[in-house]
Amino acid sequence: MLEGQRRDMVARQLVGRGIRCSRVLAAIGRVPREEFLDLQSRRDAYADRALPIECEQTISQPYMVALMTESLVLDGCETVLEVGTGSGYQTAVLLEMGVEVISLERHQVLARSAQNNLSRLGYDRCMIHVVDGKQGWPAAAPFDRILVAAATEHCPDPLWQQLKEGGVLVAPLGAPARQTLCAIRKVGGTQQTHEICACRFVPLVAGLPDVDVV
Ligand code: SAH
Repeated sequence: MLEGQRRDMVARQLVGRGIRCSRVLAAIGRVPREEFLDLQSRRDAYADRALPIECEQTISQPYMVALMTESLVLDGCETVLEVGTGSGYQTAVLLEMGVEVISLERHQVLARSAQNNLSRLGYDRCMIHVVDGKQGWPAAAPFDRILVAAATEHCPDPLWQQLKEGGVLVAPLGAPARQTLCAIRKVGGTQQTHEICACRFVPLVAGLPDVDVV
């Protein structure tokens, strides 16, 4: 039944709204979103919205995951830095695109359950680190692509520095109530920004939490 709902989600929410890339559509079509949710939320797995996960965070809306993935323009041989692992759902979609992923999450609880979700489903081309993602992951920089899954007024400079020349960074930018999903390409060291659409994400928060609320 959920498989039917997933097919329906791809057709209505993604194709219906203009997601064109067949590889992105196929990738999302292969990831069971219910596996990234708790038992109460599973029946809503293919609803057209973000849903609650632990630590007062959300799993992104399928359309946003598709749009961000498409905006990264992936051909499958890239290394992607993901900032804000959350449930691991977006991570799984990136892995289905064939790329390698380094994912950063500030909540230990989320990082652990995302890692469990991904391992259970057989995804292994991914490393999750519990750090303040605003600092990026210098040890593996530079990255071909960077995906920021939480809203920030401006692109944090360490992330920009860790993007390869010719690379693309996708992030929700702007004030909390006026966010715009942007794709920024690094051309000759400068930012070429393409505004994609208005959006609403949880904030990118500096530092690590003192205690994780479970
Ligand atoms: N795309 C994810 C949802 C991301 S929600 C999914 O599909 O499930 C945004 C995530 O960013 C949250 O888990 C939040 O804890 C994390 N986050 C916020 N600020 C962060 C920071 N500075 N470093 C790392 N992760 C951060």
